[in-house]
Amino acid sequence: MVVCRFAPSPTGRLHIGGARTALFNWAWARHNQGKFLLRIEDTDRQRSLPEHEKAIIEAMDWLGLDRDGEIVRQSERREIYRTVILRLLEEGKVYRCFMTSSELDALRQEQIRKGIKPKYNRRWRDVAEKDLPKDGLFCIRFATPLEGYCTIEDAIHGKVSVANKEFDDPVIWRADNSPTYNLAAVVDDIEMGITDVIRGDDHLTNTMRQAHIHKALGREVPRFAHLPMILGRRLDENGEWAYERLSKRNMAVDVNEYRDEGFMREAMINYLAQLGWTQPGQEIYSAEELIAAFDIGKVHKSAARFDLERLLWINQQHLRAMPAAKVAVQVSDLDASQEAIAIGLEKARTLRELRNELFWLHQPSLDEIRKTLPEHLGEANRAAFQHLVEKLKELQDFKPDSIKQVIKACCSEYDLKFPQLGMPLRVSLTGRDKSPDVAIVASILGQEACCARLGNALSVLT
Ligand code: GLU
Repeated sequence: MVVCRFAPSPTGRLHIGGARTALFNWAWARHNQGKFLLRIEDTDRQRSLPEHEKAIIEAMDWLGLDRDGEIVRQSERREIYRTVILRLLEEGKVYRCFMTSSELDALRQEQIRKGIKPKYNRRWRDVAEKDLPKDGLFCIRFATPLEGYCTIEDAIHGKVSVANKEFDDPVIWRADNSPTYNLAAVVDDIEMGITDVIRGDDHLTNTMRQAHIHKALGREVPRFAHLPMILGRRLDENGEWAYERLSKRNMAVDVNEYRDEGFMREAMINYLAQLGWTQPGQEIYSAEELIAAFDIGKVHKSAARFDLERLLWINQQHLRAMPAAKVAVQVSDLDASQEAIAIGLEKARTLRELRNELFWLHQPSLDEIRKTLPEHLGEANRAAFQHLVEKLKELQDFKPDSIKQVIKACCSEYDLKFPQLGMPLRVSLTGRDKSPDVAIVASILGQEACCARLGNALSVLT
């Protein structure tokens, strides 16, 4: 069975890159009828905050990335890591290193001066147990094999192989008696039965280190898939688009912000999936279609570009495909009819834009009318407009066509052009001089509301 996990560090909210990683793990697990687990990597006690964990889970819930099993928190598992590190010490696969940070600094400076790549020099690796200091702070380092190659099969990049001599001996247990990420991640991946590790390609070096630790613990390494970087764009000083790693500098990165902006969860996962995975001939997917089609082996190697316009377009497609009643629920405070929703969605791409488009559902304030109406109502059309208001009050069949007929009839009676009555009507009903078709707006608002609004407008004139 395929078992995937998402392993965020709660040092910030869920950003686009993290959400994409979570989504790919979820989609791959669901595609294989496997499991999708959540592990909170909160060993950094200073920077890990409960509110970040909460925001991450909230964002995952919003996206609909449902989890299996209990949430695993690394901060609660110290004893498990301790047992493992003691075992590795006993087996001589790791060793105590007493190098102080100032010694390490001095070593680094010297290496830089000599023009060689700074690297821990394995000073304590072969010191016999009896020769170790009896006290003093130490960390524990992993004794990386000195020869041979570390090779992994990556679902996206294929075979990745690095000579072991390229690695140093990473710290896997800190002097403050806590595990580092590389140890904790391996121990947890083993214990949680993770078969497929899907994460950003910035973790590739960690993966090599982790593969060594897996082997030292006598385990098969899991399958890996390293996702391509996501680029954002920003205008550079010459007014040209510059692409760079997606960050707050070039884009809103917090997933919850997209929710608050009125993006739909369906559209968001559809778009996030396409940051690295596309199939020819299909752009719009439901969550179910995505699960059915998703293939981790088909993820692209090259960097993906975050394109807000495209996300907006995808969001609009999902909004339009959704039953209007379902969309109405999302903007329930507007009390919008399905007809109103359909009109709003001719232009709106997000729920926020939909709210803006449906501004005319709110009764305009007298101030708004005072500001806009006089411009459209004067000597030439005032009497005709008052007449129109009377006619609309009496109208039996308050539908767009008959409303239009009434406007037209008044126009010909007073020898006016359609906009000469259409505009003051629009402004009186909506408070603005731009709105969807005024007869349609009027019919959706209904005769009673229209008459009330028209009464208000006339009261402003007197
Ligand atoms: N906690 C790591 C991060 O947020 C996750 C690495 C992993 O998936 O193993 O980058």
